[in-house]
Amino acid sequence: MAVPFIDLKRFEEGFLDTWLEKVSAMSSRAEFISGNEVTTLESRLSECAQVAHVISCANGTDAIQLALRAIGVGRGDIVLVPNMTFWATFEAVVNVNASPVTVDIDLTDGGIDLVAFKIAVEKFNPRAAVVAHLYGWGSAKLGELREYCKNQKVMLVEDGAQCFGAEYMGEPIYKGALISTTSFYPAKVLGGAGDGGAVFTDDAEIAKRVRQLGNHGRTAHYGYGLVGWNSRLDSFQAAYLNISIDYLPQRLKSRRESAAFYSKELLSLGLKQITAPDSYNENGYCNVCLIENEALKIKLETALRSSGIGFGNIYPGAMSDQSGAVNFLHAHVGGSNAQQLCTSVLNLPLFPYMVLEELTEVIDIVQSQINKE
Ligand SMILES: *Cc1c(COP(=O)(O)O)cnc(C)c1O
Repeated sequence: MAVPFIDLKRFEEGFLDTWLEKVSAMSSRAEFISGNEVTTLESRLSECAQVAHVISCANGTDAIQLALRAIGVGRGDIVLVPNMTFWATFEAVVNVNASPVTVDIDLTDGGIDLVAFKIAVEKFNPRAAVVAHLYGWGSAKLGELREYCKNQKVMLVEDGAQCFGAEYMGEPIYKGALISTTSFYPAKVLGGAGDGGAVFTDDAEIAKRVRQLGNHGRTAHYGYGLVGWNSRLDSFQAAYLNISIDYLPQRLKSRRESAAFYSKELLSLGLKQITAPDSYNENGYCNVCLIENEALKIKLETALRSSGIGFGNIYPGAMSDQSGAVNFLHAHVGGSNAQQLCTSVLNLPLFPYMVLEELTEVIDIVQSQINKE
């Protein structure tokens, strides 16, 4: 049985009908930009995240750029970034004209290495730092990280593109951040029918600036108090997301069950994994195996491929090693855990509504290669 790495077409019964009805009704009203769907989405996101202000925008990369600009990061500022994340995290820092310093990650949770982070703060006195909550959870030391940044006056931006629905200490992970972001790229936990993103903050002033920057710096309809750009979320995306939020609890439940299944089975096969720290209820975004034996990793990937089972390597390269980083990277602090994770990471299929046959098929293929060892 073939199993895709991710299947976005497993719509709940009635989902597509509701969506098509909305598209039809909105089209007949020419409701394309802003309007009720967008304001409804923002207030529902605010409720889900338990954060006072939510500003929707065009995509998750813009969300990070808006957040950085809104807190005043710009030319000449040093910004710390994790060496293991999606390229957009690094890119956003460069795009606001700041200088990125990469910081190594912690192999126990994939989050920032707090020891290296503190060294980087002492050494570079950064204006801000971006951390990414990868794989569906955040750092085990998130509380300490937030507290430390607050005390050191380092403005912390949390890239939450992969952690929608994750809970930290029993509360939404976005709650308590100075400013955080998410992405509605279709493959994310709360995915749209195209690109989208959002910024979350409890600070009304910052929220106001984010809103202005993402709408051409507007302070009046034809008055521009800032130089921003157009990063509005269109109304169709908002409408699609409003339907998706109705189904989010059952999607999360399904993702978490599959994640728990893998984690238990892989543990009994003796495979190393990174799983969510105890302080988290993960969202089941990504399964993370660490296959340090290179020959075994090649065998596993070959077997999965030939059985039609999708897999991922999220991510295959560290930020500091990208050719695009050469002209912008100010420095790197810490060791090479990011590189180690990059070479050993293997992600198994994980998405809502996987069936038991699919999960057991994946585990059977993995097991067949382990037994050959
Ligand atoms: C997806 C993702 C982004 C970028 O989001 P887009 O909506 O694709 O621009 C940024 N950071 C991380 C960690 C992501 O996974």
